[in-house]
Amino acid sequence: MILSAKIIDGSKVAKEIRTELKKQVSDLIDDGITPHLAVILVGEDAASQTYVSMKEKTANKIGMKSTVKKLPSNVEQDELLRLIKEYNEDDSVHGILVQLPLPYHIEEKEVLNTIDPEKDVDSFHPINVGNLIIGDKKFTPCTPAGIMKLIESAGVELNGKHAVVLGRSNIVGKPISLLLLEKNATVTICHSRTKNLGEVTKSADVLVVAVGRPEIVTGKMIKPGAVVIDVGVNKVEGELVGDVQFDSAKDVAGWITPVPGGVGPMTITMLLQNTIKAAQECQNK
Ligand code: NAP
Repeated sequence: MILSAKIIDGSKVAKEIRTELKKQVSDLIDDGITPHLAVILVGEDAASQTYVSMKEKTANKIGMKSTVKKLPSNVEQDELLRLIKEYNEDDSVHGILVQLPLPYHIEEKEVLNTIDPEKDVDSFHPINVGNLIIGDKKFTPCTPAGIMKLIESAGVELNGKHAVVLGRSNIVGKPISLLLLEKNATVTICHSRTKNLGEVTKSADVLVVAVGRPEIVTGKMIKPGAVVIDVGVNKVEGELVGDVQFDSAKDVAGWITPVPGGVGPMTITMLLQNTIKAAQECQNK
């Protein structure tokens, strides 16, 4: 029998959350605080420019302030660090984000470590990463936070389930594994050296794929009824394609996220949520 998976509509879930966030922003403004996200963009990378402009537009749509500071690709590292420190000191700025990737002459680690952890809305600072590991987090990294919201929106109970994560990056694979573990899933992490990948993925009740290879996961690799979250964003012949082969996967999975319209819209929404949280904490100080 061929199943047809239910679609987890990230655009719809993100919109619902943004409606709630808009209300929180309005309450903060009534109290004299305008949540403010400062974004630093180094260089002219086309994809980075698109991401930054989407962040700016979405922030403005829900009534937040956003500042985008563009620096040339040959900017000295010290100048970038000086700007971050200025934002660290500026009480009107609640969230700071440096768009990645950075040009090769700039040390990414040094840059991320300079952001005040209280304003680190991407949650890449080692203090925030450590807090995530011990379950005492201030901010949840945006893409993993969005994935958890999507699983929640489908009403899927994670307790005791086998979750398999493909990819072990610092921004997706590792943090999403910790969040799934926190919800009492039994977590397996796969990467480029994993043997018999298809067998491992086929044992997953929940499968999160964050590899960056178009359609690496096919329907044959999925357990019938599984929840499949496709994080991948790949451009193939001008089209956006996920890491999961949607057409074969949808006939096996129970739930599936599309690309585009799945995880993507959630990431920006979670960034804004973190910025609002930082502004609310300022209010409570
Ligand atoms: P990344 O840093 O390049 O990590 C990719 C991971 O996939 C690595 O851990 C790598 O293993 C693993 N991998 C590579 N080939 C593999 C294979 N054949 N089998 C199993 N694992 C394999 O990528 P990322 O930053 O996590 O991003 C992953 C994808 O998600 C990309 O398409 C990216 O564009 C997308 N993304 C989307 C959003 C969004 O908001 N929608 C946000 C972030 C990322 P090793 O560690 O062994 O090399």
